[in-house]
Amino acid sequence: MNSIKEILGCGCRAQAFFGPKLKTESGIPAHTFPWAKTQYPEDRPVWPTHQSLELSLNIDKEELSGSNTLQFKVLVPNVESFKIDAIDLRIHDVQINKKSVRFSVGEKETIIYLEKAMARGETGELRVTYTCQKPKAGIYFIKPDSKYPDRPTQVWTQGQDDDARYWFPCFDEPRIKCSFDMKIEVPAGFVATSNGALHSESRGGKTWTFLWKSSALIPSYLVTLTAGKFAEIKEDWRGKPVIYLCEKGRETEAKLSFGKTPQMLELFSKKIGIDYPYEKYTQIAASEFVFGGMENTSATTQTDVTLHPYEIEEDFSSDDLVAHELAHQWFGDLVTCKTWSHGWLNEGWATFMEQVFKEEDLGKDETDYFRYEELQVYLNEDKGLYRRPVVTPFYSDPGEVWDRHIYQKGALVLNMLRQELGEEDFWKGTRDYLNEHKGGIVETVDFQRAHEKVSGRDLQQFFDQWIFKGGYPDLKAGFEWDDKNKLGKFKLTQKQELSDVTPLFSFNSEIEFIFKDDQPMKFPITMNEKEQTFYIPLREKPTYCRFDVGNKIIKTLEWALPEEMLKEQLSKDTDIVGKIWAMKHLSKEASKEGVEALIERLKTDLFWGVRAEAALCLGETKSAVALQALAVTLTEEKRSKVRTRICMALGDFHEETAAEALIHALDKDKSIFTRGAAARSLGMTKSPLAFDKLKKALTIKSWNDHIRGQTFLGLKYLRDPRALDLFLEGAKYGAPKGGRIPAVSALGEYGLDQKEITEQLEDTLKDPFVRLRFAAADALARRKDPSALGSIEESAYRVVDGHFKAAAFRAARRLRDNLRKPEELATFKESLEKLQDENRKLKDRLQKIEDKQGTPPIHQGHKASPKDLGR
Ligand SMILES: [Zn+2]
Repeated sequence: MNSIKEILGCGCRAQAFFGPKLKTESGIPAHTFPWAKTQYPEDRPVWPTHQSLELSLNIDKEELSGSNTLQFKVLVPNVESFKIDAIDLRIHDVQINKKSVRFSVGEKETIIYLEKAMARGETGELRVTYTCQKPKAGIYFIKPDSKYPDRPTQVWTQGQDDDARYWFPCFDEPRIKCSFDMKIEVPAGFVATSNGALHSESRGGKTWTFLWKSSALIPSYLVTLTAGKFAEIKEDWRGKPVIYLCEKGRETEAKLSFGKTPQMLELFSKKIGIDYPYEKYTQIAASEFVFGGMENTSATTQTDVTLHPYEIEEDFSSDDLVAHELAHQWFGDLVTCKTWSHGWLNEGWATFMEQVFKEEDLGKDETDYFRYEELQVYLNEDKGLYRRPVVTPFYSDPGEVWDRHIYQKGALVLNMLRQELGEEDFWKGTRDYLNEHKGGIVETVDFQRAHEKVSGRDLQQFFDQWIFKGGYPDLKAGFEWDDKNKLGKFKLTQKQELSDVTPLFSFNSEIEFIFKDDQPMKFPITMNEKEQTFYIPLREKPTYCRFDVGNKIIKTLEWALPEEMLKEQLSKDTDIVGKIWAMKHLSKEASKEGVEALIERLKTDLFWGVRAEAALCLGETKSAVALQALAVTLTEEKRSKVRTRICMALGDFHEETAAEALIHALDKDKSIFTRGAAARSLGMTKSPLAFDKLKKALTIKSWNDHIRGQTFLGLKYLRDPRALDLFLEGAKYGAPKGGRIPAVSALGEYGLDQKEITEQLEDTLKDPFVRLRFAAADALARRKDPSALGSIEESAYRVVDGHFKAAAFRAARRLRDNLRKPEELATFKESLEKLQDENRKLKDRLQKIEDKQGTPPIHQGHKASPKDLGR
């Protein structure tokens, strides 16, 4: 499963404000709620070995009817009754071995009473005939209406976490896997896709029928049904069909968005050492899909938001999403985590394989930068929201576990393990793990044992600290040079506060020293104490040094190196993360020379990611020279991703120079992403020109309403009361889809005294488009209107989707916290911004006085050649 962070953008930059929240005031870990408990699998007296769905789909009535016939075996002695998971299904008949039996329908399950007790080892056949009408979850009917007449007609299912039971009676736990087939009847013209191979089809008359069969063992949450009047693009990988389904007219976009699938199939099959294990691989572009993608076995559902034209390929790619869902076919589908507590074995792996594909496709620098950004995403969750172990059985709903800890941190832990064990052992251990458990279920210990066996290492401490505990080493380093003895003194401290969740870490890494002749000396380091000092004989004083070569350790690092060393590293380091690290430290001091070095990187670095980060660092310095350089470079830079970051950086300034540069980009830039960032930052500059300009920008048509969405964010930051009507209009059902979430989000801060806005947001909690509900809950929490508490909590209890449930309960908790906070705290952030602004102005004035007193003028860096900017 993949969230839509890349497509919708994640507002992480603001989250690091209040520091880590390990526990709530009630003492409950902040990632869950007071009613959380340790989750265990249920005892199941019978176990399915095959399930066979025979269904008919009525799209007009939003109805699915038919039967599920399950072959089962008895696991315990003397079974007189057992349950099957089913919610809101009208059960017409239950048969055991073709004879109707008694049953009782409960809220979440149906109990089946056997006529005669069955003994352990006996087998039988269960057939449940049922109708599912206007379901609350599990299966979704997407249809045009008067507000969205162009919306396509589609039906798609979403089983994860435990919603399969809303559309067919089943044994709905990830650990219960069996073979499967589905015969499905749909209205003529609709193509129905499910798991496995298409065994037969009949297209003729008023209904078309498709029979899908899967010999692979699959859990209920990975059973899929999609139906639409799709166009089909067919490719091939080693003789297996690779299919993309999309709405007619979007074939070119689908081919572009999913087109690297055969290349990924080849790479993953080789790396993993097990060929792609299913009959075919289909990706269906689903409209208004609730997530980025869902890895249903051999038939992944992808959001159609990811389909894009060639013109924006430089800014946006579906490759991460496609690689992620494909990787799940091994990690999640071939082997499945026994309970959601071990969800990282699915999601950490799928996220890690995004890195693996990037290495092959785009090379080292792109992958290092991607990994660096993934680390920031995880750190933001850890610092801003909560800290937890990656594996925890303690939660109230599985919707609470799908966070940055299991995706990003999980992937980074795998990268760390790979570097620790070496390429060969890592992939061999992984292959053994998959081979031993294929078709089955796994827990973290299975993965650990496979690697211990291959590597000969004991990995208990590794898994304990990185997976079963939370946090990471928060490091402080120091370096001193003893010239007389030619000795470097390197001191390393772990300054994280130790707790039940956060341990003292033990890890292996390397420190590297570089000298005048650019020849490095590298030394291994084992850190296992709170504070350690390493005395290292060196041939001369190094010009710069680097800790954690290859950036394998998940960590934060504070190291007050002399500016000379940082500048040297910035110009010479071949590791782009090393450069970014040096830039971050230089921007903190923001000395004249430091800013000059950042400008040099912005204009000349060969890798676009370094230029992009240089722009953001320059924004943080808030210096006049930086502003000038950013404004000039915005018109010269060839790579749109860098121009987009420059626009983001310009939002840190309140001067007209920034506003003018942004208006120019909003009007003229050829990238919609740069234009979007310009609109957002223009609002942040608070320029008097901004309101009219942004109001007009709302009418610009762009892919997925991207510019409109970003413009709403700009208007939100602008804090002009005239924007309120625009938000209200943009948030309504019927407004352009891509702008609705940011418009709803803005209502969290506007018209706070107006009751009708609270009411509109309360209505949005029931919006047919599920993601709008998340934005509404969040906005209501920020409005500090106590009257909204009831409706947020009511929606949390009412809604089925575990992800929204968790988000809504968190929003309610935040609203309560906000109500308790004194007003001074609420305005603290604003005052801080003002102080930073004044501080910067004072610094600039000081600089001007120094310049007048004879300091040489600041070097602006040379103009980059087109060749420099080509990457
Ligand atoms: Zn996933």
